[in-house]
Amino acid sequence: MGLLLKIILFGVVIYGAWKTFSRWKGLFDKFVGKPDEPARPAPPPPPAPSEPLSARKAAIQETVQCAGCGAYIPATAEKCGQCGRPQPRPQS
Ligand SMILES: [Zn+2]
Repeated sequence: MGLLLKIILFGVVIYGAWKTFSRWKGLFDKFVGKPDEPARPAPPPPPAPSEPLSARKAAIQETVQCAGCGAYIPATAEKCGQCGRPQPRPQS
């Protein structure tokens, strides 16, 4: 008789667990929605910078200010494009 009692008790526990699970699943579907509903589309990734930061930094470092007119010209230029003043070569 002990074994039969255990089987019945086990069945009651399983039944109660299933009923509880069904109730919570119904509430979950009611609030969240159907699980097979498509999720919201992910936002597009941020656009990557056109050039790396090191290249930009190098470009800034290679620009010098003209002593004659104050215009910023490339350090590799022989003379200023604004006033034509020749650039002093950096002394090494
Ligand atoms: Zn100049």
